Amino acid sequence: MVADTKLYDALGVSPDASDSEIKKAYRKLALQHHPDKQASGSGDATRFQEIQHAWEVLSDPNARADYDAFGEKGAGGGPGGPGGFDEADMFEDFFAEMFGGGGGGFGRGPPPGGAGAGGRPRQKRKTQTPPSEVELPVTLEELYTGCAKHLSVERTRTCGTCSGSGAKPGRQAKACVKCNGQGQTFAMKQMGPYIQRVPMRCNGCEGRGLKVRDQDVCKKCKGARTIKEKKRVDFHLERGLHFGEKIVISGEGDESPDSSAPGDLHIVVRPLPHPTFTLLPPNRPDRPADLSTTLSLTLSESLLGFSRLILIHLDGRGLRVTQPAPGQRGWRVLKSGDEVVVPGEGMWRKGNQGDLLVKIEVAMPDEQWAMGLAEKGSVDVLRGLLPPRRPDLERMAVGEGKETDEVELAEKQERPEEEEQWYHGTGRPYDEDAEGQPGCQQQ
Ligand SMILES: [Zn+2]
Ligand SMILES: [Zn+2]
Repeated sequence: MVADTKLYDALGVSPDASDSEIKKAYRKLALQHHPDKQASGSGDATRFQEIQHAWEVLSDPNARADYDAFGEKGAGGGPGGPGGFDEADMFEDFFAEMFGGGGGGFGRGPPPGGAGAGGRPRQKRKTQTPPSEVELPVTLEELYTGCAKHLSVERTRTCGTCSGSGAKPGRQAKACVKCNGQGQTFAMKQMGPYIQRVPMRCNGCEGRGLKVRDQDVCKKCKGARTIKEKKRVDFHLERGLHFGEKIVISGEGDESPDSSAPGDLHIVVRPLPHPTFTLLPPNRPDRPADLSTTLSLTLSESLLGFSRLILIHLDGRGLRVTQPAPGQRGWRVLKSGDEVVVPGEGMWRKGNQGDLLVKIEVAMPDEQWAMGLAEKGSVDVLRGLLPPRRPDLERMAVGEGKETDEVELAEKQERPEEEEQWYHGTGRPYDEDAEGQPGCQQQ
């Protein structure tokens, strides 16, 4: 005595039917009710799902025994069981596909019916797994000299216990019930006056067409078919690689049982900020990058020249500069904001080297220094030496009939943040099309 006859009824056979009787009944009904026959009127997706599900359970001796003993529960009906062609689910899938869902999409995958009737799993063409990317932060010192590096990467490998089937030894993945092994389901979409069948990737089997039933799942990978694995990858960082440039390590990326070869590992170079040097993007990818730095000079050095070690370069070398004194050949005053170049001291690229751009910053002497002068009574001496003070602005610059007020230069106060928000927080940019011009109109 069986617990439930629903699945036998679905195939129109008796509970004591032989395997070959079940198979025969399934084939006949599946062909008759296949959704692709919809045009001719005999197709029926819901009915087909029932037939498919009944076949899946009754064709597996273990599952059939469970079903006979415990009914639908024992056979692991699970989601997408009989009548699992759930409309709400279907539309959810559809919208996921339309608006940023993974994989699939319109027109991908085989055309309806292309994979043949009757729950044959969709065959995918095997290709290399797409590459995986990992970022490599590098110091400018490392980038300048080039060096041996290593990374510990986590990548997926095909599960060795189940050889990528996702099933326990001796068990197999079965045609997915939800999509009849097609890997895709169909949503009905209103297109103007018509209702169209739109294919989308099956979310029951992630488009594989095959699914391992819960009780058959591989213990090692939990049915994921792959496992995560840590691996130390050694490689050489070539000097002068640009920001975002990739070091390609063949076959060290992720592996997928659906692919013929493991993917490559792309190591993306990301230079770290440096306290002294800034890496400047080159104008052509084959050119070496320039470096830039700031050189702080005293007022005396700025005006009168100097000779000193100014910088320790990224490879540890010292750079000395001799700037001539007034009257000597090549002398010039270096002002704050001036930019000068040290040719050939930038970043490497193969055999070439970019330039080192140097921005000058003149440190003004401070109050302590000026007080020292005052104490020695030398203020007037210095005033006599320095360029003269500026006279008043021309009197004519003051508006007709306007006075000149005495004001002070006070310490600047930080404005509280709320006040800034009050002024900038309207969120409305200036509207160029608006009538009128800012400011008062002059007659
Ligand atoms: Zn496994
Ligand atoms: Zn499926």
